[in-house]
Amino acid sequence: MATDQEPSFRQSVDMMFTRAVALMDLPPGMEEKIRVCNATYTVRFGVRLRGKVQTFTGYRSVHSEHMEPVKGGIRYSVAVNQDEVEALAALMTYKCALVETPFGGSKGGLCIDPREWEPHELEQITRRFAYELIKRDLINPAQNVPAPDMGTGEREMAWIADQFRRMNTTDINSAACVTGKPPHAGGIAGRVEATGRGVEYALQEFFRHPEDMKIAGLSGSLDGKRIVVQGLGNVGYHAAKFLSEEDGAKITCVIERDGAVMNPDGLDIEALYQHIRENGGVAGFDGATYTQNGAIGLEEECDVLIPAALEGVINLNNAERIKAPLIVEAANGPVTAGADEILRKKGTVIIPDMYANAGGVTVSYFEWVKNLSHIRFGRMQRRQEEARHNLLAVELERLSKSSDLQWQMSDGFKKNYLRGAGELELVRSGLDDTMRAAYQSMREVWHERDDVHDLRVAAYLVSIGRVAMSYQSKGL
Ligand code: GLU
Repeated sequence: MATDQEPSFRQSVDMMFTRAVALMDLPPGMEEKIRVCNATYTVRFGVRLRGKVQTFTGYRSVHSEHMEPVKGGIRYSVAVNQDEVEALAALMTYKCALVETPFGGSKGGLCIDPREWEPHELEQITRRFAYELIKRDLINPAQNVPAPDMGTGEREMAWIADQFRRMNTTDINSAACVTGKPPHAGGIAGRVEATGRGVEYALQEFFRHPEDMKIAGLSGSLDGKRIVVQGLGNVGYHAAKFLSEEDGAKITCVIERDGAVMNPDGLDIEALYQHIRENGGVAGFDGATYTQNGAIGLEEECDVLIPAALEGVINLNNAERIKAPLIVEAANGPVTAGADEILRKKGTVIIPDMYANAGGVTVSYFEWVKNLSHIRFGRMQRRQEEARHNLLAVELERLSKSSDLQWQMSDGFKKNYLRGAGELELVRSGLDDTMRAAYQSMREVWHERDDVHDLRVAAYLVSIGRVAMSYQSKGL
């Protein structure tokens, strides 16, 4: 991780922010207002487990309330601390502004190793943590809406939603108090895959721009590109799966806790994922070379490097040795400010976290809207859309017969054309549109301003500009 000379995660985010605002003409004092974290609540609570009272420490940090509710995940990890939660909350503010989800930024964390506890114990701990946050409106559909992050998932979100409902029995919008819930508990199709899917859409969009690819020294399409993925958790797994199964990319190396596996012809991601689930690590996976020294995987020769796990993994210690010409930050803060500078000097193109991993919060937004509208996307239109498409198909076939044209629609075309969009297709379409539009807004700044040389600063300029405008319209 970070070395002694390396700033903390929050300082690193601040340094990147400062580099961007230096290029902006903000009203006096606005820079400081946006930079600071508005409030961080620390809670220490006890739960009676295994014959004694166990004390846990949790945080919920609100970085910016220029829009409410504020949004951001809840992380379960022993490494959680105030500095980390505040850095992540700040990134949420910039992320939401960049992809135009109408939220301020927040983040939460619980200092716990979830693997040490049984599910029923985790439920008790989660409900108690949620209780502490709910009673202070730090979980609330109109004020603060958590979501999954590292160490949490659908299950924890369902417990949180249920806890909120128990404490607010007459709130008709209670399901919107948290996103990332399972489909049967008010969730939305495509939320679990959303962040990884967003990484795929981000890369697809990058590869639509030959000029941008040229800056990274890349050409052609994603087909056959060699990709190294660090971390095969929810984000890394889905990104690697979609990129290899749908875009023809080769995942040549996967780095996990216990080491790295490599195969120049591409790893079978689904098989590797199952192997990790069954064995707890990548060691012993067939059809790949294994090395215990996972860190060297980051330095492998490849076209794209996707750090999808922890912050600070690309730092002053290894930045110089990173060979990838393109880095996609699927994790939050995987590149420290110092490493960022080294990589920029080397000409590495970095697709920044606040854009690359925004798929999660984007689909969270769709889920929140679905919960508030109390109806599934597509429920009203789907069959009507199908009926209209069918009308056209029948009419075309009638015309073709009556004019002896003899056209025949192929079965595949007819089936696909006639089908109205369900929730999953609508979610994917909304996510794709969001990732394309956000890339365009960064790209414009990147190419049009002579003083902007990288996508990270471009992303900050776009998002800080939006946050500043929002504060100004509030009279600040
Ligand atoms: N934890 C995710 C993130 O870092 C998702 C946040 C959300 O959906 O609110 O973006």
